Amino acid sequence: MRKKIIAANWKMNMTVAETVSYLESFRTNVEAVNGVEIVIAPPFTAIAKLSELLGGSQKISLGAQNMYFEMSGAFTGEISPAMLRELFVRFVILGHSERRQIFGETDALINKKVHTALACGLKPIVCVGETLEERDAGRETEILTTQLRGSLAGVPAEKISSIVIAYEPVWAIGTGRNATPEQAQDAHAHVRKVLAEISDAETANKVRIQYGGSVKPANAAVLLSQPDIDGALVGGASLEAHGFSEIVKAAVGK
Ligand code: PEP
Repeated sequence: MRKKIIAANWKMNMTVAETVSYLESFRTNVEAVNGVEIVIAPPFTAIAKLSELLGGSQKISLGAQNMYFEMSGAFTGEISPAMLRELFVRFVILGHSERRQIFGETDALINKKVHTALACGLKPIVCVGETLEERDAGRETEILTTQLRGSLAGVPAEKISSIVIAYEPVWAIGTGRNATPEQAQDAHAHVRKVLAEISDAETANKVRIQYGGSVKPANAAVLLSQPDIDGALVGGASLEAHGFSEIVKAAVGK
């Protein structure tokens, strides 16, 4: 049985002051909710404050939205896994489509980051997903296979199970247009098939695959009821504490 995992990707939003008031109401909202893993990935500037407020909480884990693959050095503007670990960050989002499209991240670069994250005890949330053009050309499974094989190259089977995959069709991110539950389930089943080829069926069965792309309180339950959808990576709807807590509750049928 895979424990559902709901993650907030705040992107370049939320000041430290906003983070403090968000957490206060979010914590109250999810106080009685159990059996689901919650991750919040704030911008780097809010990580230290959130870490202090969470105080090692088992219910809410801290995530980062990106990191570099070196431990330290002359890499202006980058953040290292050691810096994240110092602040008790547990998860790191890697290869988000905005990183791929706006900042030119390749599968090869993401692969280096995945190896470093695992070596440092951070759990990667590896994002994959096709563009609208690729879906319209019927190439979605081919794209997913290439991205998974490229970004997970050389990762041993025993480490694959600690990775979370986020299937995020690019055409559904921030557009208000989400994949249908059937489209998402088909893509997730394909992701699990590729994971089994890379490792083995038992390992692939343990991997949690999140859906991401315009998830909201209104559509979360039906998406999360699909057999291969083990959670959600939420952008826009995670910026509001009440709405995000409703998505968390949908994961456990509340
Ligand atoms: C995301 O950026 O990971 C995402 C899924 O965004 P949104 O929920 O806003 O579509």
